[in-house]
Amino acid sequence: MQINGKAVEACGGEFFDVKNPATGELIDRVPMGSENDVDMAVGAAAAASGGWAATSPQQRGVILYRAAGIVRQKKDELAVLLTREQGKPLFEAKNEIEGFANVLEYYCGLAGSLRGDFVTVPQNGYAFTAKKPLGVCAAIIPWNMPALIMAWKIGPALISGNTVVLKPASNTPLTNLALASVLNEAGLPAGVLNVVTGPGNSVGEALVRSREVKKISFTGESGTGKRVAELAAGGMKRVTLELGGSDPMLVCDDAEIESAAIGALRGRFYNCGQTCTAVKRVYVFESVAEEFIKKLEAGIRNLRVGNGLDGNISVGPLNNLSQWEYVKGLVTEIKEKDEGKVLTGGKVPEGCEYEKGYFFEPSLVVDVPRDSRLLNEEVFGPVLPVVTVKDLDEAIEEANNTRYGLGASLWTKNLDRIRTGCEKLNAGVVWINQHLKVAPEVPFGGVKESGMGRENGPDALLEYMDTKTIMLKV
Ligand code: NAD
Repeated sequence: MQINGKAVEACGGEFFDVKNPATGELIDRVPMGSENDVDMAVGAAAAASGGWAATSPQQRGVILYRAAGIVRQKKDELAVLLTREQGKPLFEAKNEIEGFANVLEYYCGLAGSLRGDFVTVPQNGYAFTAKKPLGVCAAIIPWNMPALIMAWKIGPALISGNTVVLKPASNTPLTNLALASVLNEAGLPAGVLNVVTGPGNSVGEALVRSREVKKISFTGESGTGKRVAELAAGGMKRVTLELGGSDPMLVCDDAEIESAAIGALRGRFYNCGQTCTAVKRVYVFESVAEEFIKKLEAGIRNLRVGNGLDGNISVGPLNNLSQWEYVKGLVTEIKEKDEGKVLTGGKVPEGCEYEKGYFFEPSLVVDVPRDSRLLNEEVFGPVLPVVTVKDLDEAIEEANNTRYGLGASLWTKNLDRIRTGCEKLNAGVVWINQHLKVAPEVPFGGVKESGMGRENGPDALLEYMDTKTIMLKV
């Protein structure tokens, strides 16, 4: 844990293990935080709040920019740490660490844009608006992209003058702790960023309940998000909820089939399928289905599964035992009930021992019935179902037939179809001829049970500030 800029042990003196999902090796032991630790961290954040809010956005930007520079210098060691605790291939971990620095730098660039408005008001004279930080914000992080998602939260929160208590996922706290140390090294005043490690249902809930916490920025499953929203409502707190997704990919008959197959391959198997905006369902026009599936299958067979630290690996292990059990159980059920044809993969690789590497072969499933769990649950793993459709109307209807609405991609060269897709696909992000791309400059978030609020872009700053109106009669 880190409180007031220093590494501290938990009040209860207990620890929990962080293990490598590729090998089962113990990487480190981390303090098991409790409600008392949350109180201490929130107290530190509250004490630092006034001083930090009084600095200029430009001064804050200088510190964050320095931190981004240190992160770039330490990129290789941070990436190794991320791969060891999360499992992703090293090249993905390096991308993620770079993404952390990019996001921080982007918000440094926006420091000068934090300002209110001057408004003339009929009869009465003038009004001003001022943008005020909220105070102490909680940032609750999942294990799939712990570094990038940390930046999405602390970047806009800190630049706009808030202090933060961050709670990492228990499987991946080490990179978050290392990144928090970098911010301290860069000169962030004590108490501005604090980290409490420990279980979601105790530490996480205590943080959401804490009276001093004014806003909760949560990323995780939709079910957990609902619980967080419920608790936050009790204190009338602001929330940003970035939740689950079941992103569809729609491939039309005029699409570049080779690019679409590559898009599906990267979109599904990046991070071993554990990305909120992964391609989780493909709807392809019947007339090009055979060609698309053939190319995709060939691509999947070329993927190399293994320990992310080994060179040449394209897919690492699943991050944890429960995800591994879930994916294995789901694919076994599909085979037993004959609910689809597994064209490739569909099993644990040879020689993979229980609890010593949560590997699963990248899998392609076709002839999947519409009521299959594969199409209706958020499958967080390397399994891709492909369904054929007769036209765009059917594809859009199927794509929207879900409780989620995070992302969706449409693959076509036809402008009419692009316009229809942009208008009718019910998702927070619609990609055309690509999938998965996110950028600090562009707002990101979901509709329906994929959440509320936006991260990234200038919109995210508004999630961390109140508007105060001052009316003058002159
Ligand atoms: P999770 O909901 O289990 O946990 C997320 C975080 O919440 C963890 O830090 C956990 O300890 C904490 N937590 C758990 N219970 C809590 C509670 N009752 N109160 C407060 N905090 C609690 O999610 P996960 O398994 O870590 O992550 C995978 C999920 O995250 C997937 O559904 C994925 O789609 C989603 N996700 C969404 C986005 C997005 O931007 N929309 C990005 C990444 C991941």
